Amino acid sequence: MIEIICISTYFVVFLAWGFIRSQYQKQYALSHQTKSLEKQPKREALLVKLVGFSVGISTLLWAFTPFIAFAYVAIPDLVRLLGVPISIFSTWYFYEVHRQLGKNWSPVLEIRPQHELVVSGLYKYVRHPMYTAIIVWWLGNVFLTANYVLLGVQFFTIFIMLVIRVPDEEKMMQEQFGQQYLEYSHRTKRFIPFIF
Ligand code: SAH
Repeated sequence: MIEIICISTYFVVFLAWGFIRSQYQKQYALSHQTKSLEKQPKREALLVKLVGFSVGISTLLWAFTPFIAFAYVAIPDLVRLLGVPISIFSTWYFYEVHRQLGKNWSPVLEIRPQHELVVSGLYKYVRHPMYTAIIVWWLGNVFLTANYVLLGVQFFTIFIMLVIRVPDEEKMMQEQFGQQYLEYSHRTKRFIPFIF
């Protein structure tokens, strides 16, 4: 029973994330004809693919094959259920960040036409709430899957993506918004409000 709940939550959340992303991807594709400033587009596209690939492969191996079943760590059922609210919360958060970023969102690092710096709502306390949503999603997976191979693969690629991307993203925003971004950086954290 617990396994069914965890697997179903994992996939419902997976589909919901895909759906949310696809809506904004459509809007982005429509307005992308306009000249905008992309930073390192090839590297960025590669990073997005890397994360997509690792999440896809680890999910397939975990849910549909016995190959990584050895990496299951037995934890109490009630603890595994913690994954349900955490994953649902991450989905709401992911949606809300997209909504608040609106037309300023892009899948790769880029300054959009008429780009506005968002500093309120979820952006009031952290500079990268979308990446926070991804980290919280991963945390939900810790409980839902309890599988260290899946978690290791996903953690590794998310970590690589953040380490490579975040400094360049902040540099790009700083170049575009100058003093405004500098002041914003001083009063916010990167991922976790008041902490980190
Ligand atoms: N790092 C942010 C946004 C991810 S989407 C987050 O985690 O929430 C990536 C694009 O968002 C970047 O190309 C950048 O142009 C844009 N962006 C990042 N922070 C922003 C902000 N505070 N206001 C407006 N656009 C922002």
